[in-house]
Amino acid sequence: MTVAMNDLDSINPATREFLQATHHNYINGHWHPAASGKTLAVQDPATGETVAHVADSDAADVNVAVAAARQAFESHSWRTMKPALRERLLHRLADLMEANTAVLAELESIDNGKSAAIAGAVDIACAIDCVRFMAGMPSKLNGSTLKPSAPFLPDTELFAWANHVPIGVVGAIIPWNFPTLLFCWKLAPALAAGCSIVIKPAEETPLTALFMAQLIEEAGFPAGIVNVITGYGHTAGAAISSHPGIDKVTFTGSTEVGRLILQAATGNLKKVTLELGGKSPAIVMPDADLDIAIPGAASGIFFNHGQVCTAGSRLYVHRSIFDKVVDGVADIARNMKVGPGLDPTTELGPLVSRTQQERVCAYIAAGMEGGAEILAGGTIPDSSGFFVNPTVFVNTSHDMSIVREEIFGPVLVAMPFDDIEEVVGQANDTRFGLAASIWSRDISLVHKLAPRLRAGTVWVNCHNVIDAALPFGGFKESGWGRENGMDAVKAFTETQTTVIAL
Ligand code: ADP
Repeated sequence: MTVAMNDLDSINPATREFLQATHHNYINGHWHPAASGKTLAVQDPATGETVAHVADSDAADVNVAVAAARQAFESHSWRTMKPALRERLLHRLADLMEANTAVLAELESIDNGKSAAIAGAVDIACAIDCVRFMAGMPSKLNGSTLKPSAPFLPDTELFAWANHVPIGVVGAIIPWNFPTLLFCWKLAPALAAGCSIVIKPAEETPLTALFMAQLIEEAGFPAGIVNVITGYGHTAGAAISSHPGIDKVTFTGSTEVGRLILQAATGNLKKVTLELGGKSPAIVMPDADLDIAIPGAASGIFFNHGQVCTAGSRLYVHRSIFDKVVDGVADIARNMKVGPGLDPTTELGPLVSRTQQERVCAYIAAGMEGGAEILAGGTIPDSSGFFVNPTVFVNTSHDMSIVREEIFGPVLVAMPFDDIEEVVGQANDTRFGLAASIWSRDISLVHKLAPRLRAGTVWVNCHNVIDAALPFGGFKESGWGRENGMDAVKAFTETQTTVIAL
């Protein structure tokens, strides 16, 4: 099958204008090329062609950005601004994002490969929602009053309070799978807490972060509060995670890089939040409503081409309905419209890069060599883009790499189970613990099963439902800490206790 090319003639004039512009880092309210003068090429994954160049920053640029963020933080231009005014600025940013949804969605599509239509409806909509949710927080970030006893001061009356004060300068390192959404997951709570921030998007997908920087400038945030620098992980990213001037680093990406970031953070013992990999189980019980469970399991793995840390990549189906469910999912996989992201009929776009395509294909080959059987996909279409057809494996076992490792592509492994004990053991037989889903109409069973799953989020009769109000993060090697909800804002604060001897 041959896949059509992306039609760049059809994009919004504003998207084209942005692509054709020269792209620099946004530091201290100004646009600067990398100090080295180097740039890196940005590819359209649907064609493999270069669509833009951005700054290839290194430690020198990170130093300048961190100094700007530190000065802005210490200047009180943001952290002591009245909460209502900070909220207004965040809402202004959300308004600008809303007005520019089509451009953000197209840039996301051209940068990452995903469908522009889905990016607009999901990624950008959720990103705006996150900014609005966090915009409500500055006025609600209350501390508590405390009544200490201090038995060694019998004659002194004491009064105390504990406050959440901004942690300081934040370094944010984000991946390529949801560039705008994860930019906002880091930016919005950090700003709501009163911090300044240096953000580095992934080298594969820097465009929407730079477009967001334009909107941040237009919204009128004080200079230096938000700094966006582009570059590679081993240079710019490593400089952020080891920088002594950064108080907290927040990272989303692979477990392997999460470990490197943690090690780099030990120098000044900066606080760390990590959202890492997953190998999430979807469990279909014999009583499940299969009209919901079959398409739900398919979208659980194939949404965003499987490049989702919570992807339901291991499907466990009760043996009594195994063939029906797995045939149904394989049928959906076979009929998915694979195509370029700018085609509104596309259901599954290319993977983000040639490297990612090769990585996913290597897993598929390993699965086949190990004796697993392919029910759908397992191939790549005829295209210069980085496509992989949606793939469903059966006859797999828990010692195979396709069952154990995060593939981060449209590859599902399906396995039958006979009873609850067996499926709980299998679902938890992983070093990851990010998410899980249960498909069942039995409310008692769901209540008993959900807490036995070692996962940060358990979905019931749905998968991949994320929201700014819902704490999100992993057990085990899936990470440290939680994003979203009020907890996410508190994660960008230190608790400060003040004690008064009256
Ligand atoms: P993936 O494996 O999904 O490509 P990575 O975890 O490699 O994701 O990358 C996620 C982010 O981490 C990107 O912004 C990347 O540049 C950055 N990164 C990669 N290596 C390092 C590193 N050694 N130190 C800091 N950041 C890194």
